[in-house]
Amino acid sequence: MRDKLLIQAKRIVIKIGSSLIASRAEGLRPQQIERLADEIAALRTDGREILMVSSGAIVSGIRKLQLKDYPKSLPVKQAAAAVGQSRLMWAYEKAFERLNIQVAQILLTHQDLADRRRFLNARHTLAALIGFGILPVINENDTVAVDEIRVGDNDTLASEVAHLADADLLVILSDVDGLYTEDPRKNQSATLIPLITEITPDIERLAGVSSTFEGTGGMATKLRAAKKVGEYGISTLILNGERAGLLPTVLGGGPGGSLFLARERRLNSRKHWIAFTLRSRGQIHLDQGAVDALTNRGKSLLASGVLRVMGSFEAGDPVSCVDTDGKEFARGLVNVSSALLRQMKGLKTAAIHEHFGPQEYEEVIHRDNLVILSC
Ligand code: GLU
Repeated sequence: MRDKLLIQAKRIVIKIGSSLIASRAEGLRPQQIERLADEIAALRTDGREILMVSSGAIVSGIRKLQLKDYPKSLPVKQAAAAVGQSRLMWAYEKAFERLNIQVAQILLTHQDLADRRRFLNARHTLAALIGFGILPVINENDTVAVDEIRVGDNDTLASEVAHLADADLLVILSDVDGLYTEDPRKNQSATLIPLITEITPDIERLAGVSSTFEGTGGMATKLRAAKKVGEYGISTLILNGERAGLLPTVLGGGPGGSLFLARERRLNSRKHWIAFTLRSRGQIHLDQGAVDALTNRGKSLLASGVLRVMGSFEAGDPVSCVDTDGKEFARGLVNVSSALLRQMKGLKTAAIHEHFGPQEYEEVIHRDNLVILSC
């Protein structure tokens, strides 16, 4: 099953971590970049469509600005990203030009993805580039992104790009081999898990012991990324990018890395976007009857089932639905503001009409804008 999936994956997003292609002491590592370019070119010759998400701008910028330490202040970090990003693209331009491959730079922030029109626009741009046979190289737009609008780490960005591009597979290249049964530094009998069919809490616990590298991410963010794209039917392969030749070997069905299998029933793009791209603005706590109606009977959320409203949101904002144990079990786009919902909570439709007059929507969250989370 693993081999077949890897051999058949046509459109692939490959995430390249900073430590693979740059170090603070040396700056960018051109030999390593050329080697990865050769391997990616071979995959393209094999008929695969590749999109890259590459980190490395900040580390490269640190070296170029001759900074001693990783910058703490935001403007300096952003300055490092600005000088580093052009250096990074220059290195990719050179490495791929040797192979007659044209590259294109795309810089995104969370804001570009959270607006549905901009999200769809970016999707069309990527499709057009792929149509031209161009290799898109994507990074976060670190130079302008402040916390509220940042994706934050490139594992997450790569998962967003995989959804955006409707990819068959997400490959995360880093300097770890994959997910181990135990910490390989402490226990020699630790073995690499080649196939993970479900990301259970036990698997998540293993992520804690498997992260051996520096970087924004770590195994936990990789697992989160895998879980996220898995809901959209995209599997994730975590692979050691330091090992020459491993990427084409594994994609050809050979051993190596850890593959996280996607769910069979995938969410449609818009529902995935509501659940995983948008950031929740508040929580609506529901009674057991409403939880059942939403999860088991495919109903919309009505005000009568709302117990408590947390946070501050407007009509149209993404919110979390929370069950009686305090656990988030659904997400959706809400039709009323938090202020109004606080007044309406617990009331039946007739009482709402009586107190507040006719409403534009009967439902607090319409079924079409609601996603039940699987875990
Ligand atoms: N966007 C950052 C950079 O290019 C990297 C973020 C990350 O590695 O997660 O330096």
